[in-house]
Amino acid sequence: MATPSFRTAASRLRPSAATLRLSLRSEGLRATPQRVSVLEVLAAASDHLSADDVWFALRSGGASVSRATVYRTLALLTESGYVRGVDLGQDQKCYDSNYADHPQHGHLICEECAKIVEFESDQIQKLESEIGRQLGFQIKTQRLQITGSCQEFRKLGVCTKKRG
Ligand SMILES: [Zn+2]
Ligand SMILES: [Zn+2]
Repeated sequence: MATPSFRTAASRLRPSAATLRLSLRSEGLRATPQRVSVLEVLAAASDHLSADDVWFALRSGGASVSRATVYRTLALLTESGYVRGVDLGQDQKCYDSNYADHPQHGHLICEECAKIVEFESDQIQKLESEIGRQLGFQIKTQRLQITGSCQEFRKLGVCTKKRG
């Protein structure tokens, strides 16, 4: 009998700046201070952050970094596969820092408050490789995004932490 096998919230590691520098270099990227601090902000967040969230966090931490630099840095880190963009719809894009460690995790997104819940499932992974195998594809990346109403909305009819 198959039991549902999924885990909520892919665990977020809090790598040190030194670890981040090493892993940037292992991706063939120069470990500039901006890149390292953008990754630090993402890694310290318990949630997915927008580019502006990252910028505000850096500024409030005393860094003098321009908004354009933050956008450029996130674009580069996304392109290199280090960070993944999560499209929330309504022109809202967030960034995922644990993509490198948890490339298979999916997202449940609340349409009301844009809250994101992460999950991983061995069964979905198995199904994806099976689909790829049967249709002759070698799977490189996948993204699973499920939209709906969060538990809070369903209970209270309103989300207390509405984004934007
Ligand atoms: Zn995520
Ligand atoms: Zn909600």
